Amino acid sequence: MKCYCLKSGVFLKRIGLFGGTFNPIHMGHVQVIREVKEGFDLDKIFLIPSALPPHKETAGIIDGLDRIEMIRLAFSDDSDFVVSDVELKRSGFSYTIDTVRHFKSILPENTKLFFIVGLDAFLEVDTWKSYKDLLLLIPFIVMSRAATGQRDTVLQWKNLGSYIKSRISNRYKHSASRSCYIHDVKQPVFLFEVTPVDISSTEIREHIRKGRTIKSLVPKIVEDLIKTKGLYL
Ligand code: ATP
Repeated sequence: MKCYCLKSGVFLKRIGLFGGTFNPIHMGHVQVIREVKEGFDLDKIFLIPSALPPHKETAGIIDGLDRIEMIRLAFSDDSDFVVSDVELKRSGFSYTIDTVRHFKSILPENTKLFFIVGLDAFLEVDTWKSYKDLLLLIPFIVMSRAATGQRDTVLQWKNLGSYIKSRISNRYKHSASRSCYIHDVKQPVFLFEVTPVDISSTEIREHIRKGRTIKSLVPKIVEDLIKTKGLYL
């Protein structure tokens, strides 16, 4: 694994936390998270399936162990992507603030952590538990998302800018050179344009229910598991 040597001689690792329901993991997740890893030069990414997502309809979310298995299979060729069961082990709703605190408590203090999220999810961040504290704790990487119905990324970023200033803090300032919003106290929010992959888990579940193919929407090895176990029928 790559390490970065600081002036002090201390090694710094750059780690991404990617939370979601992953019900199931799909080619959109796989493609964009690989791009983020490369774009931000991250050493490792933890994929963290939620137990009960506070912002989603929970009916239809399959067992966490099956979701974990599908994530493992999707990244079986790359050990830099690791599944974490921390949210599944906690009972009740999965709150990002608790997850970030958990990783901060177990990783070396000099680890540089990022929380990775799609634009659609970030645009609800002001409804997340203790979101103000969360933005003090960890920088966000917000990925563009084709499925928001807004293909024009210039407009997507404009909407994000208004949202950040009106709903989070009007002290966030846009830094074009760093492609992020910076704040005097809070952590930065980075904007990252990914290849548009217009796939969602909802669409995959619908396809399965209707007996339609999910080929190319999920990795082949995940498709095989879904078929063998009869998931989402
Ligand atoms: P559902 O359709 O069930 O709501 P989903 O496809 O949005 O699910 P999640 O597991 O909820 O998948 O997504 C986890 C994270 O990945 C979220 O931050 C979401 O915005 C992001 N994400 C999911 N699919 C894409 C995609 N195609 N492009 C960019 N980001 C994505």
